Amino acid sequence: MTMTRNSNPRQEIICWQCNEQFSRLIPKNIDRWQTICPYCGAECAVDLKPYSTKKSVFRQGDSELDIHAQYNLPKIIRSNKVV
Ligand SMILES: [Zn+2]
Repeated sequence: MTMTRNSNPRQEIICWQCNEQFSRLIPKNIDRWQTICPYCGAECAVDLKPYSTKKSVFRQGDSELDIHAQYNLPKIIRSNKVV
């Protein structure tokens, strides 16, 4: 097995328009993305930036800093209207 699976966590999202809850995979390295509510079809903007905790972990080589983006996500995130 050479397949490497990134453990993209699923995130529970509340639609800003109809208040229904659904889950989506969190895209890798994206602080903010848009998805479509499966219930009402509204475009939902999901902003992970407020929950990101970027840490510099270790120095690699001469000057490269390995930055790991992590998120302290709540169980459910309320989406925003796409503007
Ligand atoms: Zn909806």
